[in-house]
Amino acid sequence: MKDIQVKLLVIGAGPGGYVCAIKAAKLGIDTLLVEESKPGGTCLNVGCIPSKAVIHAADEFYKAVSFASVNELGISAQNPTIDFKKTIAWKDGIVTRLNDGVESLLKRAGANTLYGKAHFLDGKTVEVHTDEGVQKVQAETIVVATGSEPIEIPSLPFGGQVLSSTEALALTAVPESMVIVGGGYIGLEIGSAYAKLGSSITVVEASDNILPQYDSALTAPVLKRLQKLNVDVITGASAKAFRDGQLEVDLKDGSTQSLTADYVLVTVGRKPRTDCGVEELSLTMNGPFISIDNNCQTSMRGVYAIGDITGEPMLAHRAMAQGEVVAELIAGHNSVFDKACIPAVCFTDPEIVTVGISSQEAQEQNIEVSVGQFPLQANGRAMTMERDDGFIRVVARKDNGVVLGIQAVGYQVSELSAAFALAIEMSARVEDIAETIHAHPTISEGFQEACMVALGGGLHI
Ligand code: FAD
Ligand code: NAD
Repeated sequence: MKDIQVKLLVIGAGPGGYVCAIKAAKLGIDTLLVEESKPGGTCLNVGCIPSKAVIHAADEFYKAVSFASVNELGISAQNPTIDFKKTIAWKDGIVTRLNDGVESLLKRAGANTLYGKAHFLDGKTVEVHTDEGVQKVQAETIVVATGSEPIEIPSLPFGGQVLSSTEALALTAVPESMVIVGGGYIGLEIGSAYAKLGSSITVVEASDNILPQYDSALTAPVLKRLQKLNVDVITGASAKAFRDGQLEVDLKDGSTQSLTADYVLVTVGRKPRTDCGVEELSLTMNGPFISIDNNCQTSMRGVYAIGDITGEPMLAHRAMAQGEVVAELIAGHNSVFDKACIPAVCFTDPEIVTVGISSQEAQEQNIEVSVGQFPLQANGRAMTMERDDGFIRVVARKDNGVVLGIQAVGYQVSELSAAFALAIEMSARVEDIAETIHAHPTISEGFQEACMVALGGGLHI
């Protein structure tokens, strides 16, 4: 095969890599994107999209089941059932549609795609192992966007009944029982979905709280809902081994418990995919991740890194934003990755949104803050949706009212993440939000009210 020479080579077609390639090609850069699997990466194929599809199906089924018993709405339905094979086929259909969409966006932008596994020979040369043979590619600039993969617990290797999130999102029957090791993002999103589909779920979490990165006020409504869904949560515990359908778990009091499960889903975090020969480049690392500066530039000139390979927060929208900035930089623009915030949404039930900093983080930075919190119990829209659990909380500078952080937990609050992020990106003050007319009746009125509370008093509490 004749060597390929390009201006820009992007390795990995996840949300970071494909966005970078599309943007670069649109800016007139001769771009080649290399992908060993399918376009869209973890997010589109085995992550964000498949998990949200299963969560949606589970929500709908759970609702139908609730209508089969006495309910205040007066709706009755009989014995709803689910053909889960069909559900998964529907989910796969969405994934395929989006795979095709990404391919067509790349083509229309003028970016070339090569399918195969890339391996660095040096900082300007990569070998791509394709079905047709080995293709050498030489590039002026290379962007590493190889993403991440699930962390395996050595005593609980993946395979058979021990699943990673990838297999858990491709089951063709709803399991009778599942133990989830790791009560973080993935474990609780997928665990709540299977609980709604009828599985008996136990969550084994090493920390003293589920979702330990959030404060306990934010996670309390999620824990309450898990209890309603009959999910057993064991905290301060660690899983040891799985034998003959029994998972041995060490508890914090020193005793051992044996849990019966059809499947064990291990969701204890994700690790970077550096098997493209990153080690050989001797890049400066940040723990297991590639270290980058504000421009996503690595320690080697002409080599950039974006997305999960660069560490936390491992979120699709961060990878995409980095991809765009890097494409602009390579095109000679004066860009920098200086976002005021990266919103985080946990699609549990209820959902959690955090943007900017918490009051505790403000305290650690010696910033005096005013905090305003509005309970959704006092929000009319929340009541009409039968979900008045949760709250919206605003953290603002005491001296000038500039909003530094917003945290919320509630039904469908994920959709408020854009308003929250915009407020922080635009340096809004609590007065700006409190004086903006928010449509009635909406959950977003809770945001306005939380700002009023930060200013000294809300209208509806
Ligand atoms: P990836 O999406 O991992 O893509 C990397 C690509 O590189 C892959 O396609 C891989 O095949 C390819 N690759 C790797 N090595 C090579 C090589 N040597 N040669 C060629 N190709 C290679 N994030 C959110 O923001 N919201 C969510 O709701 C959300 N839900 C999630 C749910 C689950 C179950 C999981 C697992 C993750 C979820 N995430 C979510 C995280 C999100 O998927 C990642 O942050 C995002 O995909 C990272 O994008 P990336 O481009 O860095 O890498
Ligand atoms: P996570 O870091 O969210 O949660 C892992 C959990 O496992 C933690 O609570 C941790 O204390 C626990 N844990 C670690 N070792 C353990 C052990 N041996 N036994 C029991 N518990 C243990 O990781 P994740 O859920 O695997 O998700 C990985 C990443 O994917 C997240 O950090 C996030 O960036 C991304 N993600 C995002 C979304 C979203 O944006 N909605 C959804 C899913 C995943």
